[in-house]
Amino acid sequence: MSDIKLNDPEKVVIIGTGPAGYTAALYAARGNMEPLVFDGILPGGQLMITTDVDNFPGFPEGIMGPELMMQMRAQCERFGTRYASDIVEEVDFSSWPYTVKGGGYEVKAQTVIIATGASARYLGLPNEERLQKSGGGVSACATCDGFFYQGVDLAVVGGGDSACEEATFLTKFASKVYMLVRRDQLRASKIMQKRALNNDKIEIIWNTSVEDVLGDTSVTGLALINNKTGEKSTLAVGGMFLAIGHVPNSEPFKKWLATDESGYIETLPGQAATAIPGVFAAGDIQDHVYRQAITAAGSGCMAALEAERWLETRLEELAEAAEASK
Ligand code: NDP
Repeated sequence: MSDIKLNDPEKVVIIGTGPAGYTAALYAARGNMEPLVFDGILPGGQLMITTDVDNFPGFPEGIMGPELMMQMRAQCERFGTRYASDIVEEVDFSSWPYTVKGGGYEVKAQTVIIATGASARYLGLPNEERLQKSGGGVSACATCDGFFYQGVDLAVVGGGDSACEEATFLTKFASKVYMLVRRDQLRASKIMQKRALNNDKIEIIWNTSVEDVLGDTSVTGLALINNKTGEKSTLAVGGMFLAIGHVPNSEPFKKWLATDESGYIETLPGQAATAIPGVFAAGDIQDHVYRQAITAAGSGCMAALEAERWLETRLEELAEAAEASK
């Protein structure tokens, strides 16, 4: 952040740079709020690890995820948005203006917009984590890593739209893709199910969970258990892709804000406002229902407009109070 000129206090600090964070920054910048944006754990968010985006309005031929995010970033910059390439480690909402800490800096903020999104969920097995961190064949991003598995047998864990999409995508490279589904049915939409079920290279193994990931330096197989019969087995695969949903990145905020049982930040009905005045949440951090780039962008817009109006009223009230006390 060293080359950024900070205001004291900032009118708005935006945390996160997915479609929600960028759209909030765009509206805030155009509202003369001079937003300071913290990039977050994955600058650009989840669309940075996807390929074609065909459902974002305005791109009849589709657009690559990273390209879309780069354009959003540039659009915000055009109106004076400042970016801090840091992760926010801590916030303090106990007194106003609020405090946002990250990258060794402590920033005072009159309003805060949280748009930290969600990250891929893992099974939580020790060998899974080891082989994921070492790049040994455990991944949650088929579009990022699929290319490395030419002619290899792979497993995809999960039965939702993501799992069907990832499994279908991986058949471009893999010789065979096993979908490991913990129940006897898929959660995925009918159209996505059909795509997976009609693909000759995909075999679904029902009622099955992964108990362990096998392999020293790279995945050689999976230890499985049948959830109905309790029968254990081993599946020889060269890689495991997780598609079992996402976890909201709400950790630094849980001390201050109510979250639901899955960790999503709760906002007031129909608003981006949280229970703390001047603190707003937008995008996947507060939406476990739609989770689309366009809905995240829409809620980012709501958050910025609400922040602008809230701050205007707050500053008017403070000015009136100061006048009255003279
Ligand atoms: P979902 O929550 O829809 O599905 C998660 C899947 O993982 C379910 O099959 C679930 O099983 C399974 N699962 C969860 N935890 C475990 C576990 N510990 N072990 C094994 N399996 C597990 O997540 P998705 O990421 O698939 O989708 C999220 C949202 O994004 C949805 O709304 C979806 O429609 C949307 N989406 C849309 C796409 C598109 O339209 N192109 C593409 C991708 C996502 P169970 O069913 O038993 O709970």
